[in-house]
Amino acid sequence: SKAALFDAENRVKITFNDVAGLDEAKEEIKEIVDYLKNPTKFTKLGAKIPKGALLVGPPGTGKTLLAKAVAGEAGVPFFSLSGSDFVEMFVGVGAARVRDLFKQAKEKAPCIIFIDEIDAVGRSRGRGSMPGANDERENTLNSLLVEMDGFATDSGIIILAATNRPDVLDSALLRPGRFDRQISIDKPDIVGREAIFRVHLKPIKLASDVDPKELATQTPGFAGADIANVCNEAALIAARRNKESVDMSDFQYAMDRVIGGLEKKNKLISPEE
Ligand code: ATP
Repeated sequence: SKAALFDAENRVKITFNDVAGLDEAKEEIKEIVDYLKNPTKFTKLGAKIPKGALLVGPPGTGKTLLAKAVAGEAGVPFFSLSGSDFVEMFVGVGAARVRDLFKQAKEKAPCIIFIDEIDAVGRSRGRGSMPGANDERENTLNSLLVEMDGFATDSGIIILAATNRPDVLDSALLRPGRFDRQISIDKPDIVGREAIFRVHLKPIKLASDVDPKELATQTPGFAGADIANVCNEAALIAARRNKESVDMSDFQYAMDRVIGGLEKKNKLISPEE
């Protein structure tokens, strides 16, 4: 059997309530929910509905979550693929996959197409390491551009793409009618972290000494994904310690672990380009 070419979720349960903080980004992206739910409101006045938006920000800050929430709020299917999947592909496969994705999306419209790590396919053409090695990536990028230009603005397909390197993207992707709007998703401040903690503490059985404000204070530099990780680690360690509820000492242990992991990662990752 053939491996899945991309992911498709027909019924998305995630909504804006699952996305904590990111108030400005949510406000901006709500427009897209409106385009999907009520296209004629715009088209009857002669407006062209945007085809795509770029979500820009560091890893783990909730870009995928927010894109999914748009689909959930609008009640439309969510198609997704990751740019990094294309890197190792045989010639012709990437472009074919993109065509296939758009074909299915057109059948299921209105819908969202989400492309994670678009920089992996969308780096400016002619840049990059070995000559020849990038041909397949460029084919894939070209087919993405062709597909984006090929559907009408009122076809009900909106493409959201995520990147933390908008600076390396091919300018063709950013032209009007393609990804001509950017929504920035930053790491949360203390208020955002507290809100994210509150989301991820909800399913956990907490002792009375657990204070979300205090947790937010102790986690500067954490992204939403790190906070989700802390909450789960704390619950795991409390269970291992045979406790009836998760207390502050478990969170302390979990935060130290996650901080240790982040430090190691920062040491291993050398600055890009
Ligand atoms: P990447 O660029 O690495 O793909 P991302 O920005 O797409 O990261 P997500 O995959 O959306 O990040 O986040 C990973 C997980 O972290 C989410 O599934 C969620 O559990 C948690 N998370 C991240 N940001 C938030 C947030 N703002 N509110 C609630 N949970 C969050």
